[in-house]
Amino acid sequence: MPNREDAVIINSLVRQALTSAQEVMGDNGLNAVLRTSGLERFIGNFPPDNLEPSIQTSQYARLNQAIEEFYGRAGKGMLRRIGRASFQYGVREQAALLGVAGVALKLLPEKQRIKFILNGMVNALKKSNPQVDAWVDENGGRLAYIESTCAICHSRHSDAPICYLYVGSISEAVQWAAGKEHQIVETHCLAKGDPYCRFEVGEVRT
Ligand SMILES: [Zn+2]
Repeated sequence: MPNREDAVIINSLVRQALTSAQEVMGDNGLNAVLRTSGLERFIGNFPPDNLEPSIQTSQYARLNQAIEEFYGRAGKGMLRRIGRASFQYGVREQAALLGVAGVALKLLPEKQRIKFILNGMVNALKKSNPQVDAWVDENGGRLAYIESTCAICHSRHSDAPICYLYVGSISEAVQWAAGKEHQIVETHCLAKGDPYCRFEVGEVRT
């Protein structure tokens, strides 16, 4: 697999990730993984909420790996919880960016509601970083969120998909839009040599 270019992640996204991780892991847990992933400069010192470059994508991936390793078998679940908290942060702090400010979805069919929020996530990510390549796909009848520039698994190699934080964010987004839980499965992952990370939404009524 060719090495991907090491892109930059902006302050506001790192702030979102650290705030969510702190919510789920507490200060001690977060500080421990910041140390093991070489990001100790953020201990008690989160980046400001702006669009300035913050860290390299590979550092963000290392932070994800550090959280997974810190919790051992519970790591995947912790990362999914952080992903869920991260979507909630988006709704709370970045409603305009996410396109959810003042939006009422109740009258739309479920599939439309889910597509709305997945497209909102794609657009928010692209606005915050022009290097991002992400899209919503529904070939084969299943809705899927796809990113070929996924930061979570950057420079990592694995036999199985590893973007648990992303699964958590998308699960929470779909639940927010549909009003109920849908299973999200990562079917493809850059870390195992696929051309993108693909997250498939479980069966949706049309
Ligand atoms: Zn990934």
